[in-house]
Amino acid sequence: MKFKHCFFLPLLAAMGCQPMQQSYDSYEDYPVPEGEWNEMAYSPEETRFSLWAPTAKAVRLKLYAEGQGGEPTQVLSLKPAEGGLWSAAVSGDLNGLFYTFDVQADDTTWLGDTPGVWAKAVGVNGDRAAILDLDTTDPEGWETDERPALKSFADIILYEMHHRDFSIDSLCGIRHRGKFLALTEEGTVSAGGQKTGIGHLKELGVTHVHILPSFDYSSVDETRPDQPQYNWGYDPKNYNVPEGSYSTNPYDPAVRIREFKQMVMALHRAGIRVVMDVVYNHTAVTQGSNFERTVPGYFYRQTPDGQFADASGCGNETASERAMVRRYLVESVKYWVEEYHVDGFRFDLMGIHDLETMRAVRKALDEIDPTIYVYGEGWAAGAPQLPADSLAMKANIGRLDRIAAFSDEFRDSLRGPWGNDAQGAFLVGRKGHEAGIRFGIAGGVEHPQVNGEGTHRVPKFWALQPAQFISYVSCHDDMCLADRLKATLPKASPAVRASLHKLAETAVLTSQGVPFLFAGDEVMRDKQGVANSYNSPDAVNAISWQLKKDHRDVFDYVSGLIAMRRSHPAFRLGDADLVRECLEFLPVKESNVVAFRLKGNPNGDTWKDITVVLNANSRAIGFDLPAGTWQVACRDGRIDPAKGLGTVQGGRVSVAARSALIVHQ
Ligand code: CA
Repeated sequence: MKFKHCFFLPLLAAMGCQPMQQSYDSYEDYPVPEGEWNEMAYSPEETRFSLWAPTAKAVRLKLYAEGQGGEPTQVLSLKPAEGGLWSAAVSGDLNGLFYTFDVQADDTTWLGDTPGVWAKAVGVNGDRAAILDLDTTDPEGWETDERPALKSFADIILYEMHHRDFSIDSLCGIRHRGKFLALTEEGTVSAGGQKTGIGHLKELGVTHVHILPSFDYSSVDETRPDQPQYNWGYDPKNYNVPEGSYSTNPYDPAVRIREFKQMVMALHRAGIRVVMDVVYNHTAVTQGSNFERTVPGYFYRQTPDGQFADASGCGNETASERAMVRRYLVESVKYWVEEYHVDGFRFDLMGIHDLETMRAVRKALDEIDPTIYVYGEGWAAGAPQLPADSLAMKANIGRLDRIAAFSDEFRDSLRGPWGNDAQGAFLVGRKGHEAGIRFGIAGGVEHPQVNGEGTHRVPKFWALQPAQFISYVSCHDDMCLADRLKATLPKASPAVRASLHKLAETAVLTSQGVPFLFAGDEVMRDKQGVANSYNSPDAVNAISWQLKKDHRDVFDYVSGLIAMRRSHPAFRLGDADLVRECLEFLPVKESNVVAFRLKGNPNGDTWKDITVVLNANSRAIGFDLPAGTWQVACRDGRIDPAKGLGTVQGGRVSVAARSALIVHQ
């Protein structure tokens, strides 16, 4: 995009004046500050403000006593400084005050109040930034908080959760329902006597909780906490502040910060790491966003005719390739790690971001802790404005080091295609998806036996390493597993659907990729058939914890699978060559069956020649086991990796309809 040349600058310079407005030929020409700076830096003696607004004609700072309403107690003009910054120092102790910036774009236009792009504390609804000493937000014991140990990304088991889904059920026994603090309460049980909250997570055995957007987002009005409101939160407002509606007091800027930290600390003490869902690819609004009110145009990509581009499907797409946007993403994830001890990031529509930016993110995180996990959606909602081969799309994951993407191939091979909720696949006995299942079991890495033999569709390999591949059958998007099984097998009995639930999770949790569970699938939660439930009421989205009692059998099976995976390193080889060497797919006569062996004692496993048979047929099949005595870990919809389920002798063994057989020597 081209700008009018600013012809009066040389004149001002000749007059020895500080230039009051800058124009540039392109976004690449915008000056960038050297070194670090803070939009607001508090000390009891003075507070310094520095807004990056290189195209501003003037910048005002407004101080307020409250986070909303009332007139400013003080209005100051910021002065232009190096690198496109506008700065001021205000003496005295401003702790507890709120502020906004207002940027003048031209002679007649002021862009409107904004808390800036880097607010680290805000008042209610995130409209004004807050001045506070972040150290005072640390909960007791914070200095001793540590990430739970993690040796390898291959050891990760992800659990994707929305705060309200997880703890809003009135019978879940949790006091702070739907809040960050729900994840700090120990010993909670449902009306039916089942563990809920953090106790449920420990009982299930996942290693990472992935929380849906928990930065400050727009859609939920934080001033109306008692009225029913729900949103997934993919509508970012302030990227570097926790969402107020998940706190017990969104008016007090310290509370949401402290409670987020309490949540992280409680999960860490339970041995669980925390992944944040980050949505840097778009903002909730374009006109009027904090970005647009600060540096118009700069943070977003434009189409060739100068309109805002929209690869997010949400009205805009951010321009990660521009210096200050890239820096923003990198600094933001670093901030969440350093200030909040976050352990991983899930990038929404990661395919909108350029590869260089994702490499910079990985590098910055590696400098803090290389065990921080990064993954994302390797696609966009529309075509971004950059060449496809420069973007963090799934097809380019092999060009990124230790960044993973979701496998829609494995998901769709299990449950059926995106875009047709009524069509099933492997799980419902639809032929032709065996190659897709093998692809998923191998963690998406090139494997000589993942081929088209007997099938009609072979996914293209895109992961160089299995930990770059997220294995899943459902997530918050689209129908959850229970709804999809109902939609694709409408006449099936509840018992049949429970069997398929178990079979689906067996495929996910015996995959060499990184397994990912959607919260509640382990108790067969449904969403009443609503696929895009982003703003559906709690009645649709909440997990009813009565389900854990009703489907205890499914829960025990899934937690058994997790226990098996965690105690048997053969299921998480973590290396593509090792997968090719140790994972052997076995011949089967029937369609809708996938069988494989983990040869020998790979990765130091105590079990030898682990053999897994996934039978999606509606009838039992025969499977030929080599001679010898085999220990049974899983059969007929039951699993017990610790004590086992007895033995079978080699020869033809029966694998029940819609079930998995797992044996070893
Ligand atoms: Ca909010």
